[in-house]
Amino acid sequence: MKTTIFISRLIPRAGIEILENAGFVVEINQKDRVLTKEELLAGCQGKDGLLCLLTDTIDREFIDQMGQLKGIATMAVGYNNIDLAAAEEKGIPVSNTPGVLTDATADLVWALLMATARRLPEAERYLRAGEFKSWGPMLFLGGDLRGRTLGIIGAGRIGTAVGLRSRGFGMNIIYTDPEKNRVLEEGLGGRRVELNTLLREADYITVHVPLTEETRRLIGRPEFKLMKETAYLINTSRGPVVDEDALVEALQSGIIAGAGLDVFEKEPHIHPALLSLPNAVLLPHIGSATIETRTRMAMMAAENLVAMMRGEVPENLVSQKK
Ligand code: NAD
Repeated sequence: MKTTIFISRLIPRAGIEILENAGFVVEINQKDRVLTKEELLAGCQGKDGLLCLLTDTIDREFIDQMGQLKGIATMAVGYNNIDLAAAEEKGIPVSNTPGVLTDATADLVWALLMATARRLPEAERYLRAGEFKSWGPMLFLGGDLRGRTLGIIGAGRIGTAVGLRSRGFGMNIIYTDPEKNRVLEEGLGGRRVELNTLLREADYITVHVPLTEETRRLIGRPEFKLMKETAYLINTSRGPVVDEDALVEALQSGIIAGAGLDVFEKEPHIHPALLSLPNAVLLPHIGSATIETRTRMAMMAAENLVAMMRGEVPENLVSQKK
């Protein structure tokens, strides 16, 4: 009997080839959209392995019906969409794709941070609308970077890479993380502080924690109140880490200056108020969206799945097989 794999959406070819070259029979969702729960269940029926994405809900109900799976490989570093405890109970190992998307995501953070601080989308819309009549001394004034403080919430792989990129802009770094970060401290003079200190002191706050029960709504009303009126919040981690109603309030009432968001609380639904706020820059979750990075992610997810199908421990195991 050949090993059978279901891929929940079309991924870069290099990943599919790894699975085919391993001798597996690969079935791919041909619809260019996220599958419904029923469609995903139907696709995985009788399969040995699943290569899924962050848009798939792999909850207890799904796992209870898919006990035959010998492995789930998600093509993402975040795995908050997968019920790890349920998978572990069924003895299904789960893997992710850390590291290969760190640089692309950190680059996007800076693109978003600067687009927000310098009001690029707003300025471009103004020009395209034919409103640019002359250079103006008060036209689209934004925020400076040099000498300002970058506050990194969650200084792991991406948070560190974001910090390293601040060197060229002459910024000071503070961060909050349960772990001490030697790269930020020794290499960049960064200082580890409590979350509330970071919120009070930082001019640019960038969020890089995984979404867990502990980090859900980590940034809400009380946290916005601590921020400077001139502060910008950049979120490329996961939407539910920020209370979106509280963010809208903070942006509407000038509690903070602006926000750059790549992720949303009820993705792909966007809070309607955000859509009309000029001081919010909104992106459709494209942190890791470069050709090279998505190719590496697909290959890594496929390699992990090959290992799991062979009963081996994958390189990027996030759960223990019982
Ligand atoms: P990582 O595990 O290397 O880093 C996460 C860091 O957060 C760790 O250092 C951890 O100690 C810290 N942390 C955990 N809880 C914390 C808390 N309560 N307060 C402060 N720090 C805390 O992960 P990573 O590779 O840097 O990725 C981070 C997250 O970014 C992922 O989990 C994913 O959700 C998100 N992400 C988004 C995109 C995108 O497309 N927008 C791309 C890649 C990753």
